Amino acid sequence: MQDCIFCQIAHHEIPSTVVFEDDEVIAFEDIDPQAPVHILLVPKQHINTLMELKENEMEVLQHLFLVTQQIATMKQIEYSGFRVVLNCNSHGGQTVYHLHAHLLGGRKMNWPPG
Ligand code: 5GP
Ligand code: ZN
Repeated sequence: MQDCIFCQIAHHEIPSTVVFEDDEVIAFEDIDPQAPVHILLVPKQHINTLMELKENEMEVLQHLFLVTQQIATMKQIEYSGFRVVLNCNSHGGQTVYHLHAHLLGGRKMNWPPG
């Protein structure tokens, strides 16, 4: 999608530090990391928000979580633990309207979140 920053990153039109990529998903370092490990997992298909993900597209999330496991292992946080965050719409704190998950780790996370 034109004007979507994550589509542009997925098409390598703007640079990012990619840690994993296949036909369906790209994962890269967040530009403003909130933890020692902060990776964004972005389906290459443009979907605005979780609310717009259709029933027959749920394998997008299935694959994204499998890749999350791989990256957690790659970053050696699989045993210490990590948090996966998916912000949806304004109250969820979503700022980029292309469905994505955050993988955060390398420090103890607080609960409840802010
Ligand atoms: P959201 O708030 O929508 O859940 O998360 C968007 C995330 O994208 C933020 O954590 C923000 O730092 C990150 N971000 C925004 N623009 C860019 C960019 O151009 N490159 C990278 N690597 N991350 C970005
Ligand atoms: Zn997009």
